Amino acid sequence: MKHVIIITGAGKGIGKAIAIDFAKAAHDRTGFEPVLVLVSRTLPDLENVAAECRNFGAEAVILEADIAKTAQMERIVRDIMDRFGRIDCLVNNAGVGRFKALGDFTEEDMHYTMSTNVKGTFFLTQNVFGIMQKQRSGHIFFITSVAAETAFKSSALYCMSKFAQKGLVEVLRLYARECNVRITNVMPGAVLTPMWGDVPDDMQRVMMMPEDVSGPVVGTYLLPGRAVAEELVFRPVGGDIND
Ligand code: NAP
Repeated sequence: MKHVIIITGAGKGIGKAIAIDFAKAAHDRTGFEPVLVLVSRTLPDLENVAAECRNFGAEAVILEADIAKTAQMERIVRDIMDRFGRIDCLVNNAGVGRFKALGDFTEEDMHYTMSTNVKGTFFLTQNVFGIMQKQRSGHIFFITSVAAETAFKSSALYCMSKFAQKGLVEVLRLYARECNVRITNVMPGAVLTPMWGDVPDDMQRVMMMPEDVSGPVVGTYLLPGRAVAEELVFRPVGGDIND
């Protein structure tokens, strides 16, 4: 059976690593045939990731879209359903962050952060969960952050958005348990990805890598359907590195 798996923010960083690890699992595991639906706003990134996935024999579909635009998300979900008739997994990974002192944030920073992390994640989840409720199967991952439950001084808006995502996870789980849908909250600490911009060498040395998170996410999806890992928390072994 094909597994239709949507990964938002699949062009870079953690989302890219998750897509590639699903493709590797298709290569290594007889009978696992994922259709990887790769979503982000930058087509060349998606083309590169799709090519890597196809090298492992996985089917990859590219959808250039902005999760903050509700109409684009509705169109994408409709297209996927028209084409495949089901959705087995949604990885809510697309996310953004701006980091500065509390007093320096602007209204534009608020809009930038919340429209993707909160509004986009909510409406895509609402749409896909409705389909999974009818199917009585599915798995939704949220790549939130340790900042979904720990405060960092330079992360006021990012923490607000990630605490909000955790709120959605916990409400959604109440519905999901009634219809055989699995929900996993993935909370990483610092992972070396393009989100961080230029990172000094000494900091790079203590950060996690995207594959430290992506491998366990794929392993969690492949658990027997009777079991769900509800939370995965990852930190650099020396603890959080930002303030
Ligand atoms: P990244 O390297 O900046 O990659 C983010 C991906 O999301 C990109 O492909 C980006 O592509 C896409 N994206 C952003 N906004 C989007 C939108 N509105 N619509 C569609 N795609 C969008 O970030 P990352 O570090 O891998 O982070 C991935 C997730 O992990 C985020 O939710 C982040 O908050 C979370 N996280 C990261 C860390 C970390 O230390 N890196 C730690 C904890 C949690 P385009 O810009 O081309 O659309």
